[in-house]
Amino acid sequence: MILSEPPPTQADLHFRVAGFPVRIHPFFWIVGLLLGLNAFNGEPKGTMLAVGVVFISILVHELGHAFLQRKFGGRPRIVLHGFGGLAICSDCDRSPRSQILISLAGPCAGFVLAIALALLVGLTSGYLALVPGWMASSWKESLDPQVMGRLTGVDLLLGVLWFRAYDMELLNMAIRMMFWINIFWGLINLLPVYPLDGGQVARDLFSLSQNPHEGITNSLRLSVATGAAAALLGLVVLQSIFIALMFGYLAYTSYRTLQAYAGRGPGVGWR
Ligand SMILES: [Zn+2]
Repeated sequence: MILSEPPPTQADLHFRVAGFPVRIHPFFWIVGLLLGLNAFNGEPKGTMLAVGVVFISILVHELGHAFLQRKFGGRPRIVLHGFGGLAICSDCDRSPRSQILISLAGPCAGFVLAIALALLVGLTSGYLALVPGWMASSWKESLDPQVMGRLTGVDLLLGVLWFRAYDMELLNMAIRMMFWINIFWGLINLLPVYPLDGGQVARDLFSLSQNPHEGITNSLRLSVATGAAAALLGLVVLQSIFIALMFGYLAYTSYRTLQAYAGRGPGVGWR
């Protein structure tokens, strides 16, 4: 995801991963804690677990972007902040082709993490099955209660992943959360809506065949339409107020940007 970088604070945490400088803004932990408290009704172990899973997932996503930025000649740095993360690179190749690959690398890193975790779970628990969503309920009846599925939401998109539960319930929760964040949010992130990765990909795809002004205008139009449709589907199909509000807001900001940008005439760049 791309948003502007928050200013440095005294409570920032700094370290390096694979040679990339990483900075964590204190709001990252605060937002993570609020999400964890909400998901686990204030239960401390579950909350800490949620913070850890969110941290690993967002860091892996940004590392995906950063590895490709380095491949395209840049020296990126990673910032984790209240609304996600950034892989910032001022010196890497700006051509649409490179930028498309850089944008896709974030969600793909999450998919690779989820597949690696699925293989690990399959190997250590001895049971793993991916069942299409429409078969999931009849499948569940044929399973012993020790085998459990993944959260809803992913069910609609890919089917349901069943794995044999471990004796530690916290471990089971961590696994389900890891899948949910890396697959479900990875797919959401690929929608052509600004400022999600898919919005950047759409802009760069349009600008491969059109002049930059047309490309940006068309990607903003697509962002408004997709954002509005995702808000509606989020509300009706997923019954998620959060997704409806998020995409409603992104559609609105894309519309405002489109209005401001369309008046500026060709030749004006916007990133
Ligand atoms: Zn991203």
